[in-house]
Amino acid sequence: MPEKPRYKSETDSKHEPEPLKIRAHHLCCIQGFQGYGYSPAFVANMRAVISDLEALPSRPLRLVTNCDAICVSCPSKRECTAQESHLSRRIKHMDLAVLDKLGIEDGAVLRADEAFQLINSKINSPSDVEDVCRTCKWRQKCIWYVQAGKSLS
Ligand code: SF4
Ligand code: SF4
Repeated sequence: MPEKPRYKSETDSKHEPEPLKIRAHHLCCIQGFQGYGYSPAFVANMRAVISDLEALPSRPLRLVTNCDAICVSCPSKRECTAQESHLSRRIKHMDLAVLDKLGIEDGAVLRADEAFQLINSKINSPSDVEDVCRTCKWRQKCIWYVQAGKSLS
C-alpha cells in the first residue's frame, strides 16, 4: 500500500495554507526529481510534496536551512538535524549557497511558482549549479543538474 505523505498538505486545512517549510536547496532538487531517493518512504513523501505544489502553485513556501517537509521522511533526518555533524554542515552549505544567490534571508516566504522562477533565473551558470550541488551523490540522476549543465555548456 502506498505510504501517505507525512508533511501537512494544503488539503488538511480549510484555512489559508500555512507556508510550507522547504530547505532552500530543495527548490532545485524538486525540479530534478526522477523517482530516486533514500528510501521508499522518502520517495513517496517527495512525490506527495511535488504533487501538492503542482496542484497549488501559489502555495507559500518558507525557505529555510533546516529540516523541512521533505526531510521528515528521510532516513538521514537525525544526522542532518545534528548541528555539528558533517552531513548537517554540508547540507546547510547548499541551502546558504542558494539563499545567497537568490539574495533572500533564511525564513523568507515566497509563492512556490515565484520561488522556482527565481531559482532558475538566478542560478544560471555552471559554476552556480556546482556551488550548490557539487557534493551531492544524486547529480547524475537529477534532471535539474543535468539539464542546467547541458543548457549552459
Ligand atoms: S544535484 Fe543533488 S543537490 Fe543538486 S538539485 Fe539535484 S538532487 Fe538537489
Ligand atoms: S539528506 Fe538531510 S537535507 Fe536531504 S532530505 Fe535527508 S534529511 Fe533532508
